[in-house]
Amino acid sequence: MIDTASTAPEIEAAKPELAVVGVGSVEQHAAHLPVDTDHLIATRAAPQVAERLGALSLPALPYSVCLEHRGFAGVVCLTPDTVRRIAWDIAESVGRWGVRYLAFLTFHGGNFILNPAAREWNMDGRSPRIFFVDFYAGLSGVGDNLHACEVETSIMLHLAPERVHLERAVDFVPTWRREDLTVLGMRRVTPTGVWGYPTRGTVEKGRRWLEEGIAKSTEKIAHLREGCETLG
Ligand SMILES: [Zn+2]
Repeated sequence: MIDTASTAPEIEAAKPELAVVGVGSVEQHAAHLPVDTDHLIATRAAPQVAERLGALSLPALPYSVCLEHRGFAGVVCLTPDTVRRIAWDIAESVGRWGVRYLAFLTFHGGNFILNPAAREWNMDGRSPRIFFVDFYAGLSGVGDNLHACEVETSIMLHLAPERVHLERAVDFVPTWRREDLTVLGMRRVTPTGVWGYPTRGTVEKGRRWLEEGIAKSTEKIAHLREGCETLG
């Protein structure tokens, strides 16, 4: 496993072509999960994805774009321009010592900016190629769960049970759609900050969803890398 606990000569000798960065967030997760839930999951899951790919594991970003959560305490938000700049700065840095593919693996849904940021960079023909992958995309059996929900609560019960206050969890599903958050924000559509069914969370579901997310993210990144190699 090559990561930032390695020395510079060790990294140089390993010549990693692919690097993986988890993207967390510091934002409200209702009354039953900590505000660093996304970051904690990123720090635990992204290195496993990197390891399976034989990639360099870079430290997860604690902050990202969570504008939709403004109005709740505990929210620390970067603006989209900042996150685009960070993504490009990391790409520019790792490209100098041979990394050809840089995957941003996001554990928070509001980081839409990473998609146009990656697209603009890549279509300009710049190196390394930036991949933007959503850890939660394509998980099975998610249903109406979006935030501080059955999925996140389960994964936290699996990874850090001492930080889950399940007795305070309250289920709530807004009548709005996810894209309406762009206009309304979370505060208006959910009084508690929950979107989904946290009371249905279990350790076993968390173990399964985490493994599925790691497997699918690994597969997605490998597929993109293969596309770059075969299509040039
Ligand atoms: Zn979250």
